[in-house]
Amino acid sequence: MRCGVSASVSWQDRGRCRDLDPDLFFPPVESESSEQRQARESAAKAVCSACPVRAECLSWALAHRERLGVWGGLTERERQVVAGNRGRHPARVVAAG
Ligand code: SF4
Repeated sequence: MRCGVSASVSWQDRGRCRDLDPDLFFPPVESESSEQRQARESAAKAVCSACPVRAECLSWALAHRERLGVWGGLTERERQVVAGNRGRHPARVVAAG
């Protein structure tokens, strides 16, 4: 199970990240360079891109306002944009991403 989400969240059992190192999806406690962050996030997004529960994961992260990490293929900054654009036309949300 990933990052302390309740065991009742069954979609997590089908996530591609289930058996991967969570450090790929979350920033380190210590700082990381911009290049390191981009590389880590790109690798995490590659995993998410073929995940069968990507939509559920992103929806959960948005609903629970997950502050850190790549969830559903989006970084924390990208989720803030999506959350800030709720209620706007979907094309604008995609364009902002
Ligand atoms: S979308 Fe990404 S973070 Fe979410 S369950 Fe799938 S692989 Fe894990």
